[in-house]
Amino acid sequence: MYATWVNPGHTAEEVVISNALVIIEKQIEAKTGFRFNTNSHVQVSLLHELYDGVDPQRQIASRYVIETETLQFPISLTYDFNRDHKPSLMNSDPRVLANNPSFNDLACHELGHVLMDQVSRRNGLGPFFTVDYFNLCSRSHQFGINIMAEGTATYFQRKMHPTGETLSQFVFSPYDIDTPTMFDYVLMVNQGGQWVVTDILEKHGERGLIWMLKNPLNVLGPIRTAVTDYRARALHELAKERW
Ligand SMILES: [Zn+2]
Repeated sequence: MYATWVNPGHTAEEVVISNALVIIEKQIEAKTGFRFNTNSHVQVSLLHELYDGVDPQRQIASRYVIETETLQFPISLTYDFNRDHKPSLMNSDPRVLANNPSFNDLACHELGHVLMDQVSRRNGLGPFFTVDYFNLCSRSHQFGINIMAEGTATYFQRKMHPTGETLSQFVFSPYDIDTPTMFDYVLMVNQGGQWVVTDILEKHGERGLIWMLKNPLNVLGPIRTAVTDYRARALHELAKERW
């Protein structure tokens, strides 16, 4: 069979999704100047149920598994596609899926995670980040990793699909992580994270990303102060360093 022969162990749908992702990678490269690996490509896996790697209680819409360099999507993606398109996904031109706005939006976020991991590996910094590593980190460091990771993924997603929202440090709690507050963790990590990384990535591109990977954010003390100081330090050091 075509699919089995091209990509052992993968279904025809997974091959189409994988080819759609190659198209979307090119769109991201053209718009942002960042570069994905050319010699290796992310694997795709369709699953019935997806759970967060570091929080197995939490069901999610898609996931990048760093350990195996695999993007997981729900099987419902196939059902939704087949409901709206002929021919079905397994026989479809990958460009049709790549140009589907909701898939493209989701894929741009996940490919942001892929890009961050690829930049980390190809600069000798190892995978960013494994679940085993995350579980060994302190809570303040875990929070920092989430801000860097989701902020970067959301940056690429919003760069390709702007929503016009104003970013600021005020989505972050002014208290420390041990103070119970009404602040929204997901908002702090995604939208707040996007505020932290945007100028670093806009002004310094891959150098900015490498700086963050080499200087992981550790959210000690009041959260808003810690992230504001981190962003300012990154911009200051990147502006004076030439490497
Ligand atoms: Zn994410």
